[in-house]
Amino acid sequence: MTRKWYSVDQHGVATLCADQEDAKAVAEGSNLSFPQNAPHHAVQLADAAKLTLARGLLRALLDNMPGIPDPDCSCHLSPPCYDCTEYGGIREIIADAEAYLEKDGRDE
Ligand SMILES: [Zn+2]
Repeated sequence: MTRKWYSVDQHGVATLCADQEDAKAVAEGSNLSFPQNAPHHAVQLADAAKLTLARGLLRALLDNMPGIPDPDCSCHLSPPCYDCTEYGGIREIIADAEAYLEKDGRDE
């Protein structure tokens, strides 16, 4: 099943769009034309049960990650340091995932 794209305003009013690009364009245009209803977002409807399962799996992954050492940056001595090149990327991903789960269930 191809999921449909919508532009949705702050009140939850949805406008069916042709595709993702159309939904982004409609959302941007609506922000300008109807600022009282902004922000508008390009969205797809999602199965809440699948989303809950995915969040649970992400939580389990984060809780069972092999040890990532605490930051020990020495870029001030020889940039970029081993700690940043080896672990900087995964630390950012973990922080983004934790932030995502933190706002779980809350409006953005
Ligand atoms: Zn560093």
